[in-house]
Amino acid sequence: MFDNTEHTNISKLGEFGLIDHISKSFEVKNPKVIKGIGDDAAVIDLGDSFMLVSTDMLTEGVHFDMVYTPLKHLGYKAVTVNLSDIYAMNGNPAYITVSIALSSKFTLEAVEEIYEGIKLACENYKVDLVGGDTVSSNLGMTISVTAVGYVDKKSVAYRSGAKEFDLICVSGDLGAAYLGLQLLEREKALFKENPNLQPDLQGYDYLLERQLKPEPRKDIVRLLHDNGVVPTSMIDISDGLSSELLHICKESNVGCDIYIEKIPVDHLTTTAAELFNIDGTTCALNGGEDYELLFTVKQSDFEIVKKLKGISIIGHITGDKMNARLINQANEATSITAFGWDAFKAN
Ligand code: ADP
Ligand code: MG
Repeated sequence: MFDNTEHTNISKLGEFGLIDHISKSFEVKNPKVIKGIGDDAAVIDLGDSFMLVSTDMLTEGVHFDMVYTPLKHLGYKAVTVNLSDIYAMNGNPAYITVSIALSSKFTLEAVEEIYEGIKLACENYKVDLVGGDTVSSNLGMTISVTAVGYVDKKSVAYRSGAKEFDLICVSGDLGAAYLGLQLLEREKALFKENPNLQPDLQGYDYLLERQLKPEPRKDIVRLLHDNGVVPTSMIDISDGLSSELLHICKESNVGCDIYIEKIPVDHLTTTAAELFNIDGTTCALNGGEDYELLFTVKQSDFEIVKKLKGISIIGHITGDKMNARLINQANEATSITAFGWDAFKAN
């Protein structure tokens, strides 16, 4: 199947290069597969609607750190990050399966706590846990969740649907989850130096919640639906705004102009960013795990969308293929490159 004879380090390809490499060897044979690898969820034709399928995995030491991750939050997050991919197709999730690998350090009570979080997410987002797998692990924990959902054929939103002149929108605000992580890492480092220190995280609840307990934007999918707006393209923001904009541009074969001052950043994010000598907007562009929605709409939807609470219009799609530009207040443009999360890139 693969005719490599060398020993290629995965970091040479990066996460997306590796996925491309794998997907090239798999041709879709079943005509019901409308979209296979390459979007937030796979799309399967059910006749009168589409079924959506998406998987995401969280690994101890990479995606979460036991030192500061409450187990209930971990279970909740493992589910909600998956639901986010179903909403990113403009769909609604219905079922999940949960697979968990556990090392012997975890007690029954620990597993119960994880499942408390999973249950809460199921209740909040009205999905059913319908299966999974339980295995032992030599080192740490891994949780993998698969979400299944549905979408009307007329409403499905792919990464590939953006057209020149479409407006680019994001929900909520960006960069907070990244700063939540920086704060937790800072406290962990201080604690290592002096275990008697009490964590000093007062006033940062919002940022910590954004990191530890992300909520997918079911409400935005509903809001757009209720206002008769079907996004021309959509993706959820898991790896930073820059990275997701480049996915939309690549898959839609377009470019984009983004106006820096329009990127929504909460004042708590801006203030916390100063602590780390970074710019809040840089966190929005290159941080990750915000789980907001990035989407495009037709110009003709402008009057409706501009009135919708919780949605910011940050730029527009251009015909300049693959040229994603960031425009500052002096009207100077720089190219957007993705510094966001890429599982295997050597940084
Ligand atoms: P997201 O950030 O929305 O979860 P990813 O970047 O993880 O999306 O994945 C992009 C696409 O690649 C998705 O369609 C996903 O199903 C697919 N994919 C990721 N890893 C693999 C793999 N190991 N084998 C097959 N498909 C994969
Ligand atoms: Mg996604």
